[in-house]
Amino acid sequence: MNNLPTEPVGSLPRPAALQAMIEKVDKGECSMEELRKEQDKAVEDSLRRFEATGSPIISDGEQRASSFATYPLADTLGGTGLANNLAPTGGQNFAIFADGHHRQLPRLTGGPFAYQTYAADYLSKARSLTKANMKQAVIAPSMLALLYPLDTQLEGYSREQFYADLVDEAEKDIRKAFAAGATRVSVDFTEGRLALRKDPQNPWTGRGMLQSFIDLNNRVFARFSPAEIQKIAVHTCPGGDCDSTHSADVDYADLLPSLFAMNAGGFLLQLASEKDRERVYKLCGEHSRNSQTVYIGVTNPQNPRVETPEEICREIITASKYIPKERLGTTDDCGFSPFSVDAKPKHGSPDFARDIAFQKIASRVKGTALARAQLFT
Ligand SMILES: [Zn+2]
Repeated sequence: MNNLPTEPVGSLPRPAALQAMIEKVDKGECSMEELRKEQDKAVEDSLRRFEATGSPIISDGEQRASSFATYPLADTLGGTGLANNLAPTGGQNFAIFADGHHRQLPRLTGGPFAYQTYAADYLSKARSLTKANMKQAVIAPSMLALLYPLDTQLEGYSREQFYADLVDEAEKDIRKAFAAGATRVSVDFTEGRLALRKDPQNPWTGRGMLQSFIDLNNRVFARFSPAEIQKIAVHTCPGGDCDSTHSADVDYADLLPSLFAMNAGGFLLQLASEKDRERVYKLCGEHSRNSQTVYIGVTNPQNPRVETPEEICREIITASKYIPKERLGTTDDCGFSPFSVDAKPKHGSPDFARDIAFQKIASRVKGTALARAQLFT
């Protein structure tokens, strides 16, 4: 029995040199082959430093992904290598962040819809480079549902046909990750909280879409056995990009009952940056089901201050008053850089943010071990 499991969400800041090369690729000044070599270096460095944190499960830091959401669709955030049936402009704003910047999705122009890259394509390149257990994050189909126009039907490709293709692809993405050697898979669901934001600048957030997101994701989970489901988690957060968030002002009380209605075995929840954490622990205790493990976020990737193992331990002990300790785990609040191009402004540089990320992960591992000793002996 694995008491108090701990795992990362997935991403790490890309080194400054890699980010500079991504920019060159988008400008046509550098080849994909050169970019892949730089990615190889970043993955190697990520694995070695991840191993050194003592984390029982690691990732490749998503160093090859354009972002947590767009990896199936394009090689870079700038749109290099965009998949078929997608246009680079005119898509929906996936998110508008608190600091004013936004991230946009491509626009679907017709069917059929298929992933160009699966998360396993990255995992299989990293798997042989480490002996550690590896996890893989994949994007929720509910995020990619936003590729379809909000109000109109595409000629010859109905919304329902698109959803059917999307569910097939999302299932395949998860199965391929396990086949490539993932011990666990987590599904990034950052659009859940944003769906409750009702931001007039971002039309889809005011459409009451949360339930349709939950239903769509459950269509994928329904394809897995109970044993497989125990190895699949869902991650929720208020967004994380350029050290800013998109939906931190949405009350968790509005999200959590729906979140735990998703038929996943684990939930990775942003919590360290939440103001009233104890209230959220209580809500998690009330709404999570007996088959669901709640991984509380104990480090904040957007703040360069490194949480101490002792304060992390205290949080876990507090959470255990509300969430049964047998169903409790820890994680980071979010990936450390869900988007490949991220200056990490509050940290001063992506390279410094990488140093901080590994320190935070090491602290999470130590703090979790302290709490494990208190709770299980
Ligand atoms: Zn996140």
